[in-house]
Amino acid sequence: MSADTRREKAAHIRHLLDTEGENVRENASHFNENRYDAIDEFDEYEELRTTVREIKEDAIERLPELIETVTESVEANGGHVYLAEDAADANQYIENVVGDAETLVKSKSMTTEEIDVNEQLETAGVDVYETDLGEFVLQVADENPSHIVGPSIHKSRAGIAELFNEQFDPEETLETPEELTEFARDYLGERIRDADVGMTGANFVVADSGTITLVTNEGNARKSAVTPDTHVAVAGVEKLIPTLSDLQPFVELIARSATGQPITQYVTMLSPPVETPTLDFDEPDTPLSESDGDREFHLVLLDNGRTAMREDDQLRETLYCIRCGACANSCANFQHVGGHAFGGETYSGGIATGWEAGVHGQDSAAEFNDLCTGCSRCVNNCPVKIDIPWINEVVRDRINHNESTEFDFLVEGLTPDEEPGGVDLQKRFFGNYADLAKVGSATAPLSNWIAGTAPARALMERVLGIDRRRSLPEFERETLRKWFDARGGSRVSPADADREAMLYPDAYTNYIEVERGKAAVRVLEALGVAVEVPDVASSGRAPLSQGMLATAERHAHDAYADLAEHIDAGRDIVIIEPSDLAMFAGEYEKFLPDRSAERLDDNSYEIMEYVYGLLENGGSSGKLPAGDGERVAYHSHCQQRTLGLEAHTVAVLEDRGYDVLTSETECCGMAGSFGYKREYYELSMDVGSELEAQFQDEEARDRTVVASGTSCLEQLDSLLERPSRHPVQLIDPDR
Ligand code: SF4
Repeated sequence: MSADTRREKAAHIRHLLDTEGENVRENASHFNENRYDAIDEFDEYEELRTTVREIKEDAIERLPELIETVTESVEANGGHVYLAEDAADANQYIENVVGDAETLVKSKSMTTEEIDVNEQLETAGVDVYETDLGEFVLQVADENPSHIVGPSIHKSRAGIAELFNEQFDPEETLETPEELTEFARDYLGERIRDADVGMTGANFVVADSGTITLVTNEGNARKSAVTPDTHVAVAGVEKLIPTLSDLQPFVELIARSATGQPITQYVTMLSPPVETPTLDFDEPDTPLSESDGDREFHLVLLDNGRTAMREDDQLRETLYCIRCGACANSCANFQHVGGHAFGGETYSGGIATGWEAGVHGQDSAAEFNDLCTGCSRCVNNCPVKIDIPWINEVVRDRINHNESTEFDFLVEGLTPDEEPGGVDLQKRFFGNYADLAKVGSATAPLSNWIAGTAPARALMERVLGIDRRRSLPEFERETLRKWFDARGGSRVSPADADREAMLYPDAYTNYIEVERGKAAVRVLEALGVAVEVPDVASSGRAPLSQGMLATAERHAHDAYADLAEHIDAGRDIVIIEPSDLAMFAGEYEKFLPDRSAERLDDNSYEIMEYVYGLLENGGSSGKLPAGDGERVAYHSHCQQRTLGLEAHTVAVLEDRGYDVLTSETECCGMAGSFGYKREYYELSMDVGSELEAQFQDEEARDRTVVASGTSCLEQLDSLLERPSRHPVQLIDPDR
């Protein structure tokens, strides 16, 4: 990416933060909080997640068979099914069905957004009316959706009032939400009543009965489907589920995941063409029995790249998505900037990368793919358990190899990675950070001095896209490993030890945050653990985060080979950096044989989790310094939360007498290298502002700040005027 492109991207994000950020944040966070509450109260959540995952896996596996089944069912009901190859094919069929109709009313449907059916029909002379309130607002404003469930979350009530008053010039000025909704209801009610054709999407299509299920909060979808005598439903082929009995768990999960409601206001199950005659609103006294009951129904099943996605081992999982938007609502970057930055031609949020790459192509996905930082929070929040970060990383890898950069000739064959040409220099820099840190440490303090000079920062910003407003980490000349060897290794011999552990010297702990590594060694020894700090390959987290999958895979194999020796020798693997633990506990299943990945997962522990385990199993906490009521503000790392390990740190610190306040903010905004990037610096700081506000308020202002992740510590250092440290440093016997 050129320096100019980075600047333009930064300006676009800045503009959205200024104009839409507040509304997006309020609405997406509201959905997210509601979802947490709804799921807390729903005991069957995990069980149903497993069920819907199995149903989706089965449905996509049997997709050709389900298409045949639904075709038979719908035709047996008297309707028509058309399998459209792509957007143009679908639009042509719809145009033929619509014929010389003058008006068409539509329910909210991302699939119809995907094929741009409105434009196509309007060009053909049809008046199209969006009847979902959010979509109606956007149609009036001539804007694109910012969210797949709440399309106009970026707009404020005041903005909508201004828009409606200007466009419709109502007799009474519209102001309140009730007035605006009533106006839209009446306006759209008339259009629905007079429409020639109704078009809906479908949340689910039941193959064996031909049932279209619409899950909505407004009711206009149902009205649009049944009021006109022609109903066209447009659905991606992935919406098919085998039987009616499969439907219930999806209905249970979709509303809770989308908006936090136990169920939406309307769940409409239609097996069209429905038999009820259409109403003639001009003849209200005519009995229904005398009405013309002749209805038409067309189900347009859209492929548009989905067959290819199904055959693609990596993109296939995208087809399990039920479009609830939970991955967007739970994503810190999305919450701050919304789908107009974190989205492509049609889809937005974390899973949008899979959809855009599949239906519109990689170029659309490339526009926003880097906004997924791989924090993994969305995975626990996805009702279908989709590994959304992995899809982003795979597509990032493909995008990397699709590009060529002006500096390819400089780095080809010279970088320590496995990537062919085409990888952006910024990505290579961050992806190879462990190797770079080794050199930086060996040449410190000169390396730190040079990197800190104004010309070097200017060059780094221009060539590598590293924002010069960020402080760079400083390398230590004496690494953790050198320090450990110089002191003669572990002070607890294996013969005297209760346990043996290998402290994993990640690149940050070994070369930069060496003090936390020393503290960890002393804490483990105080609890009777014989410690080793050997030379181990880096985990591959850095290249994985940049979409350099071949390099990440090589690191995974190298690291496992090193780590397996220690597991064989009966040592526990103790890790300070949560993102490395997340590699060992999760991502390695993509790179290593199952048995190896499981072994590593079973034997790996986050440092404070390990200390907690030692104390729970008879370790004497008296050997660690007492907190004596010291007030602490603690921010855990995203991946640590995803792995459910935040509580261990809090428990250990409280056990030692610290008064711990945990951050309410799920993300500090730094996310590894993300916050260093010129194009994302402002977004990173905007996300971090929530954490800053909490840690600067009255309750936290005087507290010692601790955080588990390197990038969280770096972000906190730039947000706050007091220093931060790793929690293990609070229980360091040498403190
Ligand atoms: S990926 Fe999961 S969380 Fe995201 S929209 Fe799809 S179903 Fe919902």
